[in-house]
Amino acid sequence: MSETLDRIRTSLIGLRMPRALEALDHTVCRIERGELTALEAIDGLLAEEHATRENRRVAVALKTARLTPPKTVEGFDFSFQPSLERGRILALAQLDFVARAEVVHFLGPPGTGKSHLATALGVAAVRAGRTVYRAALAEIVEALGRAERDGRLIERIRFYARPALLIVDEIGYLPITAGGANLFFQLVNARYEKGAMILTSNRGFAEWGEVFGDAVVATALLDRLLHHAVVVQIEGASYRLRAHADLMPAHTRTHAAITPPPPPRRRGRPPKNGAIHL
Ligand code: ADP
Ligand code: MG
Repeated sequence: MSETLDRIRTSLIGLRMPRALEALDHTVCRIERGELTALEAIDGLLAEEHATRENRRVAVALKTARLTPPKTVEGFDFSFQPSLERGRILALAQLDFVARAEVVHFLGPPGTGKSHLATALGVAAVRAGRTVYRAALAEIVEALGRAERDGRLIERIRFYARPALLIVDEIGYLPITAGGANLFFQLVNARYEKGAMILTSNRGFAEWGEVFGDAVVATALLDRLLHHAVVVQIEGASYRLRAHADLMPAHTRTHAAITPPPPPRRRGRPPKNGAIHL
C-alpha cells in the first residue's frame, strides 16, 4: 500500500500535478473510511488539478489580454440600463461572433457600461480558450506610429491581427491624426473577415470623419467595420454618476445624441440578411 502510494506521489511530481499531490493523503483516508469509491477518488483528484490549472491559465490569459479588472455579464445590472436587451448580450456571450470573425460595436455616452460589456465578452472568450487583446484606440495608434518609425510596422500589425478577438476601447475620446487613422485602417484591413473585434465609442458613426481626422479613411474604416457587424446602442445614464444623478445637468442624465449609422456601403457583395442589427 505505502509502496503504491509512493509510486503515485512520484508520478504526480513527474506529471507536475501539485494540487492532486496535496490532496492525495486526505483522499486516501476518505477511501479507507469508506467515504469515497476508488473511481470517485480518481475523479476528485483529477478535477482538483484540472480546476487549479484552468484558473491559472485564465488568470494569466486575462493579464496578457489586458482584461483587468475583469468584468462579467453576470455582474452587469441590466435594470440600470433598460435600453439594453439582456438577451442580446447573453447571445453575444455565446461567442458565435468570435468564430464568425464579426464586429460588435458598443455605442453610448460615458459611463453606460460599454467597456464593462466589451471586457465581459473578452473574459468569456478567454474562458472559452480564445485569444483576446484589449487596448484603447489611442494606445493602438500610438504603438503603430512608433512601430512605423522603427521600421517594425508589419510586425506590430501582425501582433494586433493575431488574437481571435481584438477589443478597441474608447474610440472618440481623443482625436486621431490622419496618419494615425491610416495606420489603424491597415490594422482593420488585416483583421477584416479573419478576426473578430469589439469596438466601443461615445461618438456616432456620422462623427467618425471628425474622430479620425479624415473623412475618406473614416468611410473606408466604416465600410469594413459595419460589414458583418452588430451594433449595440446604449441610451442611458452614467453608472459612475448614479449616486449623483440629481446634481447632473439634464443633458447628461439621459442619452447623448448618438446618430444612427449610415447605411453601410457594400463592395460588390449582396447584403447579408440580418448582418446589421440596430
Ligand atoms: P463606459 O465604457 O461606457 O464609459 P464603463 O463600462 O467603464 O463605462 O462603466 C463605468 C463603471 O461602471 C465600470 O466600473 C463598470 O463596471 C460600471 N458599470 C457601468 N454600467 C454598469 C451596470 N449596468 N451594472 C454594473 N456596473 C456597471
Ligand atoms: Mg469605456
